[in-house]
Amino acid sequence: MTSPPKSITVCCPNCHLYYEDWWRPSINYSLDHFDDDYLESASSSTCPRCSTKLRLGTLENTGDELLFNEPSWEPATSLDYVQYYDIEGYLFNVVSTRYARDKALTAFDFFSIVVWKANRAKSIVARRLLAHGGGQENLEVAVASLMAAISGAKEPRERLSVLIKDWGFRLPMASAILTVLYPEDFTVYDVRACDELGGFKDANAADFQTLWERYSAYITAVRNSAPEYPRLRDKDRYLWGKSSASQLKADILASFRREVPDAEA
Ligand SMILES: [Zn+2]
Repeated sequence: MTSPPKSITVCCPNCHLYYEDWWRPSINYSLDHFDDDYLESASSSTCPRCSTKLRLGTLENTGDELLFNEPSWEPATSLDYVQYYDIEGYLFNVVSTRYARDKALTAFDFFSIVVWKANRAKSIVARRLLAHGGGQENLEVAVASLMAAISGAKEPRERLSVLIKDWGFRLPMASAILTVLYPEDFTVYDVRACDELGGFKDANAADFQTLWERYSAYITAVRNSAPEYPRLRDKDRYLWGKSSASQLKADILASFRREVPDAEA
């Protein structure tokens, strides 16, 4: 039998970059007439950063013999789509843990954070990543260097500075990324939470020192809210849920006749 192409997450054994690729676990030469280039790409992977080439361990049935090359790499567990459906659960159960362990993320996990915060922002974020440092050619490499800069920073202030001053992110997205990476230190900066807290809409300031002071005060206000929920992450969810529910109740009372602006726009 020939197995269909499968996506995989590869960790480069040389430079430790995590990246997404695809392979065929098995190929039957009598059923499939792939050319040599295809066979090579289906059974190997090349690191986009350091060009190290790995054998993936494809089982090849040539008709005369079974060929098996020991993989030079350990396959990661594949994505559980039912788990991924709950993207927030995936981010805080899987991605947070992976970052805490590896101090690195694949472009897939990184962009899952971006999509969770604001799906429409993903192509802008991709352009920003590729443009950084005079132009990166690959999003896996760009995400890896961003993660290295964030994990290399010593303090929360410095981590936020990497995203905002060095890479050009704005506070809502930067805070969402850092909330997944450091859920005890950061919370998502969001207009819904601002509404519930009654302030802080000026936190996304042009001057970084002002931004940091306002955002730090915002985090303190979130920490002081919803005392029945001890975890910072749950306080943020409480505020968002309360704002969203209150807005829907108000909209129903007004029969949806009032224009409600897009809270994230
Ligand atoms: Zn590499």
